[in-house]
Amino acid sequence: MGNKNGTIELTVLGTRGSIPISRPDSAEFGGQTSCYMIRAGEETIFLDGGSGLVSAPTHFDKAPSILLSHFHLDHVIGLAMYPRLLEKGSETVLYCPVLTPKGAKEILDGVFSPPTWPLSLTEYAGTITLRTMSRRFQIGEVTVETMAGYHPGGSVIMRLTYGGKSLVYATDCEPDEIGLVELAAFSRNADLLLLDGQYTEEEYRERIGFGHTNAAIGLKLKACTDVGQLWLIHHDPQSTDAELLARERAIGRDDVRFAREGETICL
Ligand SMILES: [Zn+2]
Ligand SMILES: [Zn+2]
Repeated sequence: MGNKNGTIELTVLGTRGSIPISRPDSAEFGGQTSCYMIRAGEETIFLDGGSGLVSAPTHFDKAPSILLSHFHLDHVIGLAMYPRLLEKGSETVLYCPVLTPKGAKEILDGVFSPPTWPLSLTEYAGTITLRTMSRRFQIGEVTVETMAGYHPGGSVIMRLTYGGKSLVYATDCEPDEIGLVELAAFSRNADLLLLDGQYTEEEYRERIGFGHTNAAIGLKLKACTDVGQLWLIHHDPQSTDAELLARERAIGRDDVRFAREGETICL
């Protein structure tokens, strides 16, 4: 499984923030947490391993990579039940950020070990190869660049480039004025910016410092960059389809939308 069209293909597997939900009033935007599948050339790359990873494809020509923005549960919980990790002989490469003095294995073993989970990820039948993210690295022909996010405990913002196309994944981030300038520079010329838009402006005023942002900040960012499309992600668990649709309509632009679970875009 790859994508030989010379494009970056992105499929949204989960765009809910904080915790998975399952409610009829949220079926359109979906309830699974952060996971986006990218196919570019020979590569399959997952952005985060939230609960959306559980229903991801499992067979590829080449070992897939999973890039973690940070270790909060909504970004790693899907690793526990991703069927590929249970397949003997499979290999999955997990790129982890350096956010604390603790190494990735120690952090993940702390999440996935008894008594909260029966075994650690490295004890699964499939092989999980841990790699450390650097400022800039290659996954085959895909170039990955990273910058520090703006989130309690840290997070990493990523830019992936392949075949002259780029996308930026800025989940779980709350940039201040300086951060906006940095993020605008990092996002220059990107075809797609996936940006945390968890809150309404009202909600945001009550949750400053929680590490998430809102569509107004996204629009401000878009106005000072030349990114092609802005997709708002990491929807709050309390936000219904009706509320997200109303926010999207209020913005009223074809190049700004709230991401929906299951949709695919080719860049
Ligand atoms: Zn999150
Ligand atoms: Zn987080």
